[in-house]
Amino acid sequence: MKEQLANIRAQALAAFDGAKDSAALDALRVQYLGKKGELTAVLKQMGKLSAEERPAMGQLANEVRAALEEALEAAGKKLEAAALEAKLKLEAVDVTIPGDSVAIGHKHPMYSALDEIKDIFVGMGFTVLDGPEVELAYYNFDRLNAEEGHPSRDWSDTFYFDADSRVMLRSQTSPMQVHAMETMELPIRIIAPGRVYRKDEVDATHSPMFHQVEGMVIDKNVTMSDLKGTLNAVVEQLFGKGTVTRFRPHHFPFTEPSCEMDVQCHKCGGKGCPTCKGEGWIEVLGAGMIHPKVLEMSGIDPEVYSGWAFGMGLERLAMRQFKITDLRLIFENDTRFLEQF
Ligand SMILES: [Zn+2]
Repeated sequence: MKEQLANIRAQALAAFDGAKDSAALDALRVQYLGKKGELTAVLKQMGKLSAEERPAMGQLANEVRAALEEALEAAGKKLEAAALEAKLKLEAVDVTIPGDSVAIGHKHPMYSALDEIKDIFVGMGFTVLDGPEVELAYYNFDRLNAEEGHPSRDWSDTFYFDADSRVMLRSQTSPMQVHAMETMELPIRIIAPGRVYRKDEVDATHSPMFHQVEGMVIDKNVTMSDLKGTLNAVVEQLFGKGTVTRFRPHHFPFTEPSCEMDVQCHKCGGKGCPTCKGEGWIEVLGAGMIHPKVLEMSGIDPEVYSGWAFGMGLERLAMRQFKITDLRLIFENDTRFLEQF
């Protein structure tokens, strides 16, 4: 029996030490120390021993059991540590590897121009409005004095959603004038920037989608000189003191009288070049005194109130400001172009 115990001890210790993982170790624990284990089987034979032999053998058996349990615990800890180390190795991050560089963008030149315009008008007491790009023809045309049959309502000019030509992509930001008149208290000072849509071919100065900034003032005693004074002040803030402008008579259905404002060409200083098509001037906006019929349709008495409005193309303004010569560059989003601003 003494020999048996010594064998078990030697075998078990060697086996524990060589266990590959905790599952294997657990199987060994059952094999040696379990209820049907090898050590237990030896202890069951204690009854056959004589009374003199029993205490010494019992002590030896206890020593073997204690040695096995101790070795088992040590082997378990060793496996645990090895497993942890393997896991750490697997999850390790090598902080010396160079990271992927993230390209940080910046504001698009057109939105820089828009932010500047907003700042200028907000500084003058205007409110900035936002409005729908899908609009009723009623707001885009009828309420702006462009009734059925007006050439701008033509299918070849406008994107309609329905055969009745009732719902459309707005062709101008001017319907925002009507929304403002319907919802705001007088006096009104607003600008309304946003996208507009027309069936234009793409070239250096045209795009089927472009941006406008609408502006409108309605109050008592508002005159054409307020319009010119305000727009000249805005242009000077945008392009610098002394920027030369000119106002030409024009026609819009919703203003009377109407005009267009040009600024002197930034490329040639007025001499004439390809950018200004030899004119020396670049048209930046259309404007005028709000037609009395338009005020009346929105329930404003034209005998008491008057107002002016303008609509300017944002792209053309950004092109003037950043000296960009082709409109397409603004929409192509080529980072080699955009990085310059
Ligand atoms: Zn020019």
